[in-house]
Amino acid sequence: MIRLTGLRKSFGGLQVLNGIDLFVEKGSCAVVIGPSGSGKTTLLRCLNVLEVPDAGTLSIADTSIDFHSDRKTDPAVVRAIRRQTGMVFQNYNLFPHLTALENLLEGQIVVLKRSKEEARRKSLSLLERVGLRERADMYPHQLSGGQQQRVGIARAMAMDPEVLLFDEPTSALDPELVGDVLRVMKDLAHEGMTMVVVTHEMAFAREVADQVIFMDQGVIVEKGTPGEVFEASQNERTLQFLKKIR
Ligand code: ADP
Repeated sequence: MIRLTGLRKSFGGLQVLNGIDLFVEKGSCAVVIGPSGSGKTTLLRCLNVLEVPDAGTLSIADTSIDFHSDRKTDPAVVRAIRRQTGMVFQNYNLFPHLTALENLLEGQIVVLKRSKEEARRKSLSLLERVGLRERADMYPHQLSGGQQQRVGIARAMAMDPEVLLFDEPTSALDPELVGDVLRVMKDLAHEGMTMVVVTHEMAFAREVADQVIFMDQGVIVEKGTPGEVFEASQNERTLQFLKKIR
């Protein structure tokens, strides 16, 4: 579902991603871990071209794009990539002046040109799925952080993406609210959603990931199954990181 090769990105003089290759099978869950500042968020943002890479080739489903720092990317292809990738942000990024339901309606009506009725039906069924059907008419400030994040996930799903990208979805939450959000993510993974998740939740990575990717200083140091990375790694940098977070 995702094929990424040779990704490079720098900000000013700072090289943040230094040749990343990433392959994610349809229906699988890849979890990206690594120290703060290693480039995890930038990698995720490159996957839906919120950041434009300096170099690399990205294919998502049947759309492909080549990046070159000296050439402008085709806006139609960027739109196609964005259409196929839903993003769930650390700080939810809900529209504060819209209810939970309206947050889900907006993109479906404006971007996908769905009828109000169809969009409403889809939205209510997604809110039901994340356990918030009865909060449909509440505004973000009337919801807990965990509820807002579940609305954020439902909103991303409403666009029928091929891939869901999660950028530290639980790190802004009080600990007692984390479980509900992780449960929704687990359900999605078990239902066959293709997911890339940047997180510090190692228990989630162990239980749900098909592939764990350890990044440090802008490169992928190691990738493998949770067993390979968490139990059997021989890599000094991986071992040091795991020791610190344990
Ligand atoms: P991580 O998600 O692993 O913590 P990030 O991808 O957020 O890492 O950041 C990697 C590096 O890139 C950091 O040094 C960060 O300061 C820098 N960086 C990220 N975004 C920008 C930006 N828009 N402008 C300049 N530097 C950035």
